[in-house]
Amino acid sequence: MRIGIDLGGTKIEGILMDREGNVTQVIRRAAPRDHYEKTLQAIEALVRELDLLAGDKHPIGIGTPGTWVPGRSAMKNCNSTWLNGRPLLDDLIRLLNRSIRIANDADCFALSEAVAGAGRLCPCVFGIILGTGVGGGWVLNGRILAGPNGLSGEWGHTPLPYFRSDGHSNGAEADLPDRECYCGRVNCVETFLSGSGLSLTHRLLSGENREADKVADSEFGERTYNLYTSMLARALAQIVNIVDPDIIVCGGGVSNSKHLYRDLPGKVAKYTFSSEGATQIVPAEHGDASGARGAAWLNPA
Ligand SMILES: [Zn+2]
Repeated sequence: MRIGIDLGGTKIEGILMDREGNVTQVIRRAAPRDHYEKTLQAIEALVRELDLLAGDKHPIGIGTPGTWVPGRSAMKNCNSTWLNGRPLLDDLIRLLNRSIRIANDADCFALSEAVAGAGRLCPCVFGIILGTGVGGGWVLNGRILAGPNGLSGEWGHTPLPYFRSDGHSNGAEADLPDRECYCGRVNCVETFLSGSGLSLTHRLLSGENREADKVADSEFGERTYNLYTSMLARALAQIVNIVDPDIIVCGGGVSNSKHLYRDLPGKVAKYTFSSEGATQIVPAEHGDASGARGAAWLNPA
């Protein structure tokens, strides 16, 4: 058995997963906010519950909303900012006294889908998250590729290509203003492709205020999605040109829209250095469960 923990901004999910990838127990608890020690205590309590249910102690994988920097023994880039600079992994190993592996939640998502999800037959899987934020992970032959900066797959904070100079969106974005990103840069992919980015685009095009999951119901929704998929295609084409993955698996709330997949492969092909269009682009199989599942897969057995 393996234990997988998905440490989110609002909830902590813990699972027990058997050797074949079947999840036998799921526990969800509210995540303490703005308090590092309470976060540690909540994870410890959840693992103790899973230990009791399993009747034994099993290795733990944990997915976090940031990056573990081994050289500094500290977390960074967490939108749960109370984790930044803290020795999360070292503290958990001390508290729980066993093997623990840690990874970014988008990397866990990609691993889950690569090992036993939509990418299970593919050697090279790029997983993308289109949700509150935009992130990603890159898995090759069942292993997360992690570079020296812990940044592999972070396409959300690269600039949107061809902004305002796109020949395929019928000029719809010509008058859109620049978007400042919380990371300090301007016009990051995340500012356009996150849920709030989609809502903002819809408001600017139609004058309507709608949450991202309600845009499709609008009489102007088609126009918004046409532009959104064009932007997404331009951003994904960069990934295809550099990584050329066998498959791109999409997760996060915005990825649930069926509007996304109809036109996307053709649009991506327009912006890549090849017209093959051989890259599969599909929704995730495990949805929100992929965070904890991928965390469990971080351990080899
Ligand atoms: Zn940014």
